[in-house]
Amino acid sequence: MAWFKRNAQGIISQKKKDIPDLWLKCPGCNEIIYKLELERNANVCAQCGHHFRISADGYVKLLLDEGTAEEFHEEITSVDFLKFRAKKKYSDQIKAAIKTTGRKSALLSTRGKMNRRPVVLCVMDFSFIGGSMGSVVGEKISLAIDIAIKEKSPFILISASGGARMMEGAVSLMQMAKTSAKLALLAKAGLPFVSILTDPTTGGVTASYAMLGDVNIAEPGALIGFAGPRVIKQTIGEDLPDGFQRSEFLLKHGFIDAIFSRKNMKEEIGKMLNVFCKDVIDPVIGNGILDTEKKNTAEISPAVEIEEEAKN
Ligand SMILES: [Zn+2]
Repeated sequence: MAWFKRNAQGIISQKKKDIPDLWLKCPGCNEIIYKLELERNANVCAQCGHHFRISADGYVKLLLDEGTAEEFHEEITSVDFLKFRAKKKYSDQIKAAIKTTGRKSALLSTRGKMNRRPVVLCVMDFSFIGGSMGSVVGEKISLAIDIAIKEKSPFILISASGGARMMEGAVSLMQMAKTSAKLALLAKAGLPFVSILTDPTTGGVTASYAMLGDVNIAEPGALIGFAGPRVIKQTIGEDLPDGFQRSEFLLKHGFIDAIFSRKNMKEEIGKMLNVFCKDVIDPVIGNGILDTEKKNTAEISPAVEIEEEAKN
């Protein structure tokens, strides 16, 4: 095969053959990783533990029991009410994001079961306009909390966001107050909120619901902060310490409660919910069919068991 061919305009290179991109370089350890191998490992580098970003659907698969996820409010989508235009028209950005992600907003809301316990799970999608929080993300979180309260389910939210969606002006900032107020109602109902912070969680999202969890958990190495490190460095005119605004730095300084590898996330959150919730988990026999007759045998929840043990 010739590498070059001549046409009327001159010499042009042949098009590269469509070779599937099967390998990638890990930014953590510079190892070349086989993509399928990485996917099998929850997109965590087996050498150094670097957490690659995964899709919102990826988190649903990882955290909820197979076949239990049921998405809701997926039809709600943004409206360009300010007719905002910067480099691009906001309305065009919305259309492009819908086309590339196949979703109508930057938030996936779903209910399902985690280790057989019903939960309401929301996952932000960073690939949808940087996971920015606008009126739709705020409204969907608010509606998901309503469902959690109604169904008496714990609420879990996975953040991945560049912050508030400035194309919606002050309305995007109002979502901070709105979601925070709704979370107060969840707390009043005695239901736990587990906030999971992934890379990156910044701006108005960090300044509102992402940091309001009964437990705030981060993935390793995630960038978590309000303003970005470059802006802070320029403002204070000083070099920032190593690892500034990364999960490990935040844990050391008391801003988050724990760091869990994505691979253990379901198990660890499951343990926490066992302590927080005094509900009954439906017992399951063999092939996963609910055995309602045996329900009484599981009436003592793990939280009650812990209390019983303490008394003894
Ligand atoms: Zn690595």
